[in-house]
Amino acid sequence: MTTELLYLEDAYLREFETTVQTVDPETHTLLLDRSAFYPGGGGQPADTGWLSFNSGRYPVLRVHKTPEGLWHHLPTEIPLPAPGTLVRGEIDWERRYALMRTHTALHILCGVVFRDYGALVTGGDMEPLQGRMDFEFESLTKDLVAVIEESINREVQAARPVRTAILPREEALQIPDLIRTKINLLPPEITHIRTVEIVGLDLQADGGTHVRNTAEVGRIRVTDYKSKGKINKRLYIALEPFP
Ligand SMILES: [Zn+2]
Repeated sequence: MTTELLYLEDAYLREFETTVQTVDPETHTLLLDRSAFYPGGGGQPADTGWLSFNSGRYPVLRVHKTPEGLWHHLPTEIPLPAPGTLVRGEIDWERRYALMRTHTALHILCGVVFRDYGALVTGGDMEPLQGRMDFEFESLTKDLVAVIEESINREVQAARPVRTAILPREEALQIPDLIRTKINLLPPEITHIRTVEIVGLDLQADGGTHVRNTAEVGRIRVTDYKSKGKINKRLYIALEPFP
């Protein structure tokens, strides 16, 4: 048994009903049968939110994933429910939606930078409404930053659909675009690969939650640029509170 990960198929699911599978008093966590909470990964932080059970509503401080499933951390003063207890989950949607917009904005950025300059991503990180991305991008100068900002906002305005798919590993490995995200370094026990495609711009192996259309991202500002050496450059972005 493990947790059914509802966010993989539907990033817009904010509330769900489920059952307690296991409790761990040591970490004060609950393993649930199904969950829409994102456990963090790929630069996107874990969700927060609430769980309701036994006529109380309690904050979920964070979530982490193990091979057994998703563990939801409750405040230590809350008595843990018994396995089998019915639970209603709610995601902190304002925070999560901001993270979805930010995550898609970062994919727009790496799609544009690869398409226009052939530069590869080496890392990235985000919090709600802001993020950064590192590139192997020797030719990036300060003058180019404004050009890149204009290009990424054109992709927002183009209202490109964003699609996720879950493919058998062998099929995913045939997609040339995925090679640049180092999909071939995935452990052999991973039999299926989730892909996130910004139609006509970018395709990556990715486990995160994204908006359905680039128009939902809204205006993106490139707020800073740092040279981390001859080759490695960092770009910072910020989004508006509402698209
Ligand atoms: Zn991503």
